[in-house]
Amino acid sequence: MSTQTPQAIRGTQDIFGPDAEAFAFVVETFERVRKLYRFRRVEMPVFEKTAVFSRSLGETTDVVSKEMYSFEDRGGESLTLRPEFTAGIARAFITDGWQQYAPLKVATHGPLFRYERPQKGRYRQFHQIDAEVIGAAEPQADVELLVMADQLLKELGIADGVTLQLNTLGDGASREAWRTALIDYFRAVKGDLSEDSQDRLERNPLRILDSKDPRDKVFTAQAPKIDDFLSDEAQDFFAKVTGGLNAAGVAWTRAPALVRGLDYYRHTAFEFVTDRLGAQGTVLGGGRYDGLMEALGGAATPAVGWAAGIERLAMLVGERNPRRLNVAIVSEARSTDQLAWNLGLSLRRRGLSSAVWAEGAPRKRFDKAVKENPQLVLVLDDKAVSERTIAVMRVRSLTTGNLVDEELAQRVIETLDSLKLWAAPKPTIEHGRELELEYDILA
Ligand code: ATP
Ligand code: MG
Repeated sequence: MSTQTPQAIRGTQDIFGPDAEAFAFVVETFERVRKLYRFRRVEMPVFEKTAVFSRSLGETTDVVSKEMYSFEDRGGESLTLRPEFTAGIARAFITDGWQQYAPLKVATHGPLFRYERPQKGRYRQFHQIDAEVIGAAEPQADVELLVMADQLLKELGIADGVTLQLNTLGDGASREAWRTALIDYFRAVKGDLSEDSQDRLERNPLRILDSKDPRDKVFTAQAPKIDDFLSDEAQDFFAKVTGGLNAAGVAWTRAPALVRGLDYYRHTAFEFVTDRLGAQGTVLGGGRYDGLMEALGGAATPAVGWAAGIERLAMLVGERNPRRLNVAIVSEARSTDQLAWNLGLSLRRRGLSSAVWAEGAPRKRFDKAVKENPQLVLVLDDKAVSERTIAVMRVRSLTTGNLVDEELAQRVIETLDSLKLWAAPKPTIEHGRELELEYDILA
């Protein structure tokens, strides 16, 4: 029998350290922003019946034809690990009677699974944040989602160098006419297209526009444009979206060949793109999917949404250190260990992050504590408890030139006072100085 350690599955990641902090920062920021825009949080199953995805995404999309993790469960039912959020949320909208809440704004995040070739920014288990507005036909919903995405990128501090590329696919009729024209156009040069695109030609010609193969790019630039097929209503809708973005001060560029990979999109389609992530430059994508609910057997329901890859956003955010430790409590004598633990508890209960060093060789504790880069250090001297008369607590700024955070010091002092362990002469806090606070132990 082999005793080799089993390896992680290809394309999965164990996210740790600064990467994990950046990941958490993305999720926390998203949570804050979605509350500002009053999107309700939902939690969705990680797997669904395969038909939820095959019927909504379309059999000819890359996701359904090549990328799904599908399997039969022990009952012989075909199930699929979700490759995206929208289809499952749409299924729930129908099966759970969420129509009653329409227009419904929901947001979620979590892992998704696609069988893709793993590389930087592309994984087999990856993570998305996701926002959807279901049951809203008006262009203002598209605008609101885009403004929210724009604010999110700004709050993440990564908006510079990320551009919003915007297109319209028109309504069902416009899209169909464009599709027919694309088939005619590409059919004439079929033999010169990439194998993949020859394959897409009859079934999903819009996807050829998306191709990165140089053999296709020769032709995509001259391909028929959606603008020649837009109905008046579709033109009007798009004008309202762009007008709303302009009014909100959100910059965008027109990308006439932008199509979304999935079949159910109508009208607005968009991507936020950067050139800072190499080939995996799309950080956020979405659009209007008025055709989806019917594809799933529900009543016609207009909807619009977007999803963004958390890993790609986190890569732009860059390495991030854990939020700074407020207070380090160092017990320099075994007799003060318990006091240190108690202090740590009290500070945390007041919302101050605290770490306690009261294990291991006392003389090494201070150095270990300082490595965590705390804002303040409380040192409990050996005399503090043994003599039962006086405790010397040094509260000091660590790095020279680093100002003592006055407000933080004040909150620590208030906590110490409230413990009534000591009779404390009210210390004055001097800005930028090392502080020495002397406390008399009561009793
Ligand atoms: P791509 O063109 O990069 O394959 P996509 O069109 O398949 O993207 P969507 O289905 O629109 O992507 O998903 C939205 C976002 O999810 C993408 O913009 C990207 O940030 C992220 N994403 C998609 N697939 C992966 C993956 N395999 N690994 C990491 N992130 C991904
Ligand atoms: Mg893809």
